[in-house]
Amino acid sequence: MSNNSARMIILSGPTASGKSTLWRHLVRHPEVSFSVSVTTRPIRDGEEDGRDYRFVDEEEFLARKDRGEFLEWAKVHGRYYGTLRADIEEALAKGLNVLLEIDVQGAEQLRDCGLPYVSLFVKPPSLDILRDRLRRRGTEGEEEMALRLKIVEEEISRAGSYDHVVVNDDLEQTIAEVESILDLEVSA
Ligand code: 5GP
Repeated sequence: MSNNSARMIILSGPTASGKSTLWRHLVRHPEVSFSVSVTTRPIRDGEEDGRDYRFVDEEEFLARKDRGEFLEWAKVHGRYYGTLRADIEEALAKGLNVLLEIDVQGAEQLRDCGLPYVSLFVKPPSLDILRDRLRRRGTEGEEEMALRLKIVEEEISRAGSYDHVVVNDDLEQTIAEVESILDLEVSA
């Protein structure tokens, strides 16, 4: 997928839609680079600073935002998240496609930033299934989970603004579907 018309591959979807699993699969592709976002949310078990996110406090995040370091940023579930402009520009300059797993607010900003992109929205098969997945994951407390579920419907309502919408019913099938979209849209 390396080529002279490298672009951002924007991947969004509600919490527990399966997009993180999909992301982990896609980043293994040797010709896809990925963006490590900056966030103020606490680190989770199994995560690594600099690999999963760059974990910073709010003061540092806001200072970097004021210096214009972010290509896009948003407050999601009460925490700040942002994509570093330098990361994206560097990857594209090298001819690498760059995968971004970001929320609907961030995706909207990137559509207007003038850089080439293809956007994909991953949808859970139903809200009930999403609720189950979230409970089983068990990384959020009840309060945090309720907050996330409230935002899900609003996020799904914005799926129509994406180039492609993929329903994640069966992971293997979803991966195959996304790969064929990227082959068509992203390959030289
Ligand atoms: P989580 O905390 O579960 O890893 O991510 C929460 C939400 O933040 C997800 O919807 C994820 O896509 C979004 N997110 C992660 N990084 C960024 C980013 O750099 N910018 C924006 N706008 N959203 C992000």
